This record gives sequence, C-alpha cells and structure tokens, in this order.
Amino acid sequence: MNEAELTKCHELARKVRIHCLKMVHKGKSGHIGSMLSMADILPVLYTQILNVDPKNVKKNDRDRFILSKGHGGAALLATLAELGFFPLEWLDEYYCDNGKLSGHISHHIPGVEFSTGSLGHGLPVACGMAMAAKQAGKKHRVFCLCSDGDLNEGSTWEAIMLAAQHHWDNLVMLVDYNRLQALGKSRDIIDLESLKQKLEIFGWAAREVDGHDQKAVYESLRDLPLCDCKPSAVIFRTVKGKGVSFMENDYRWHYGGLTDELLAQALKEVEEAK
Ligand SMILES: [Mg+2]
Repeated sequence: MNEAELTKCHELARKVRIHCLKMVHKGKSGHIGSMLSMADILPVLYTQILNVDPKNVKKNDRDRFILSKGHGGAALLATLAELGFFPLEWLDEYYCDNGKLSGHISHHIPGVEFSTGSLGHGLPVACGMAMAAKQAGKKHRVFCLCSDGDLNEGSTWEAIMLAAQHHWDNLVMLVDYNRLQALGKSRDIIDLESLKQKLEIFGWAAREVDGHDQKAVYESLRDLPLCDCKPSAVIFRTVKGKGVSFMENDYRWHYGGLTDELLAQALKEVEEAK
C-alpha cells in the first residue's frame, strides 16, 4: 500500500465515522461504540485486501466477508455506500421506520453476504463457505469479523475447532478486540486472554496488531494465509468508540442515541482529526 492509498484509507475511515454518527443520531439509536471500533479496519479490508467489485457484487470468484458483529453494521454499510455498492442516500434511512437499512446487517443490501446480529453465527457460516470453496476447488477466501461477545459463544469455538481440523487455510477470522462488550469489560464477563495463545492451541495461525494503525492492518492481511494448511486469525487491538473522546473505552456507549449537542461535539472531533 503506497502513501496515496494509505491517505485514501484514512479519509474513508473518517467518512465512515461521520456517517455512523449521523446515522445513529437520525435513527435515534445504534451500537455506535462498536461501529467506531472497526472503522479503521474496514476501509483497508475493502480497498486493499478483498477481491470484490461494487459493479458486480455477486461475481463468483469474489472473496466473502461476513460481519459477525452485525449490531455494528452501520460501519460496514457506510463503507459499502462510500465505495459504490449502493447509493449514499440510503444511509439516511438507517434504523428509520420503513427505511432501507436495518439496525443489524441484512443480506438484502448489495455487498452484504449474510444477515447477522445474534452473536456466534458468523464464523460457523464462514466455515461452511470455506468448506464449499475447498470442495469446489475455488480460490476465493472467506473473512469473518468477530467481536469479544462473539468469542463468548460456544458456536464460535465449535467453528474454530472444525476449521483447524479440516485445514481450511482459505478462512480468516478477524477479531475487533476492544475488550469491552455490552455490559462491561470482557475480562469481568468471560475472560478471553490470552486469545492469541488460545487460538494457536486450537490449531490456528494467529497474529495481533493495532487495529487503528491502518498501515499495520494492511501488513497483517497482505500475506494470507499466515501459515499454510491452517486457518488464520488476525486479532486487532482496538478501542471501543475510537475517535470520539467521550465514547472511547466506555461500555455505556455500546448502544444508544445521540443528542444534537453530543452529535455536534463528536463530529467536531472526528472532522478535525488528522
Ligand atoms: Mg467488544
């Protein structure tokens, strides 16, 4: 990724944050902390890594991406809209009565592979897609972005074991590891540490990286699989609510609305950020 592409990723992340804040304000609710947490990852993934085409969203050899943490889906919707998968105006209808975009992500939207929101569903489905690709001799890859909460789910760990047993090296689990979830700190609910070590013991190749350093995000995803014959996991250390000072690292911003005043303050911070 050259400097111009990195600058483009920075700018796209800034736009995604701005869209998410406005969408949550207009829709009167949403998982804003979760959206901002992954806002630096999606632009790198969609502009530098995934083989996808906004003009041909169902092309056969496309890489598949599943957002298992579908509650934060507005960040993906904003990314897709900015890249031309569907009109930007649709974002105005997020979480509104009879609007095109629901609070959790839906596969009815161009570019969205699978409807999610109930945690623990994304990785099992990604396993199925990876298995189907292997059996058909296809070369595309399957990516799944999980949250701390996803990794509390037994179904996720079943999928982790299954993928390792079958050596699905076309499968990539990304973790938005902000160490907070709906009701508090993950370490106080179900402690995931050491996640990297756990995944390696379960037969995956794993790497940890700063999920807000877009150059590092790119470098962590450039040469997949991390190890031949193993599924790959990239654990992104992130900050819930990243980019808005009063939201950062505060689980109370897992879900909620924004007053006009708070929206103005948040937008000012994001718009002025370098
Ligand atoms: Mg979390």
